[in-house]
Amino acid sequence: EKADNENLRSPICCIMGHVDAGKTKLLDCIRGTNVQEGEAGGITQQIGATYLPGENLRDRINRELKVHVGLKVPGLLLIDTPGHESFMNLRSRGSGLCDIAILVVDIMDGIKPQTVESLKLLKMRKTPFIVALNKVDRLYGWKTCHNASIVKAKNQQSKDVQNEFERRLTEIIAQFKEQGLNSNLYYRIKRGENEEKREKEEKGEREETISIVPTSAISGEGIPDMLLLLVKWCQRDMVEKLTYRDKVQCTVLEVKVNEGDGTTIDVVLVNGVLHEGDQIVVCGMQGPIVTTIRALSTPHPLKELRVKGTYLHHKEIKAAQFIKIAAQDLKNAVAGTDIYVVGPNDDLEVVKELTMGDKESVMNRIHRTGEGVYVQASTLGSLEALLDFLKTPAVNIPVSGIGIGPVHKKDVMRARIMLEKKKKEYATILAFDVKVTPDARGIADKHGVRIFTADTIYPLINQFKAYIHTHKE
Ligand code: GDP
Ligand code: MG
Repeated sequence: EKADNENLRSPICCIMGHVDAGKTKLLDCIRGTNVQEGEAGGITQQIGATYLPGENLRDRINRELKVHVGLKVPGLLLIDTPGHESFMNLRSRGSGLCDIAILVVDIMDGIKPQTVESLKLLKMRKTPFIVALNKVDRLYGWKTCHNASIVKAKNQQSKDVQNEFERRLTEIIAQFKEQGLNSNLYYRIKRGENEEKREKEEKGEREETISIVPTSAISGEGIPDMLLLLVKWCQRDMVEKLTYRDKVQCTVLEVKVNEGDGTTIDVVLVNGVLHEGDQIVVCGMQGPIVTTIRALSTPHPLKELRVKGTYLHHKEIKAAQFIKIAAQDLKNAVAGTDIYVVGPNDDLEVVKELTMGDKESVMNRIHRTGEGVYVQASTLGSLEALLDFLKTPAVNIPVSGIGIGPVHKKDVMRARIMLEKKKKEYATILAFDVKVTPDARGIADKHGVRIFTADTIYPLINQFKAYIHTHKE
């Protein structure tokens, strides 16, 4: 009741889905830019974040849908995910920070393995999401209706195109059903349907129906619908969560060593204000890093952080924003951890402890028997997500050792202990999105320690399961 509607922060929205579904193109379409064609091989290599200001959001919606939205959020912060690292790193002390997600599915392809992985990540982090059923313009015979609402665009199509659309939609709804999810075209979900379901859910029953919005990232059909749906949903169901708070809440998404201006970190400021000159403590590989913010920059609104030479510099920035922080000694910062601002009344030692506590609690998640595989990941977010997967009843693989960063000789030596314990199958390193040094590889081969590598969770776990399986026979 007491939530201050006038003081909401921008929702943080992640774009997820399988490679080539059109995540980057969808963001391009929303912004009116063309990052996708400039990307090497069309594959997103870095995090792209875009701030869509309120006025723009309102215009896009009003122009096409002719509805007046009482906009309460200042804007929308959209984050493109290369693989799923940024989603995994958008965490704080074990919970997800992404307020909402768009899961992009190619209407011609349906659900693919990476879509399933996205679904599991979304479920694990309890992140609500909508589905963008993208590339509708690829339906044979589709008549382009630039930026039109999907209802209007669909009505302009021939009977054949409409039938083909329905056929594919039905198939994809069935595929979601196989994953245990109800879904439907967003305007076919009856008013009140989800409210009823939510009540049941509280009693432990099935979840609500997921909204599907058909889109084209090339010609813009369905984009206004998608934006309206996001805004309405946030303003109806997330007021509490989106109420702005003064206490700084800020998470490191990526650490970058740049030529020229040293090391920077890309962060998401969820709440509070950051200033140039603030003293901050960042979680480092070898311990807390105490440093001072030298510069704060953001992309221009509607541009993104990957587009060079478009930074805006700030003396201070208020949440929610995607920010590049330049400061000294950030080289060993751990992505996926929270940063702390040292206030005038804070005890630096206490802040340092707080900063390291989260990482330590993840690093301590080893099996009580001391028997299990060795897990190594690139960031705290990806490590935690992998540990969560390994722990699920369907997978259930115990872990005896944990590390962040490349696999070194010492990690192999630790995994080797399982051989002495007569647990040969556990003398294994699951290397998630990290490099294996040649030294480590050599020692592993010599001692019979297995190293499996992958940059997505499922293939990694499946390699290990296949190995265990053959090992047993
Ligand atoms: P991502 O890997 O999910 O980021 O996918 P991209 O945005 O890089 O898109 C992959 C390819 O699909 C590119 O060649 C895009 O031009 C194309 N594409 C994306 N969205 C659409 C769409 O709505 N319609 C059509 N026809 N092509 C699209
Ligand atoms: Mg992309």
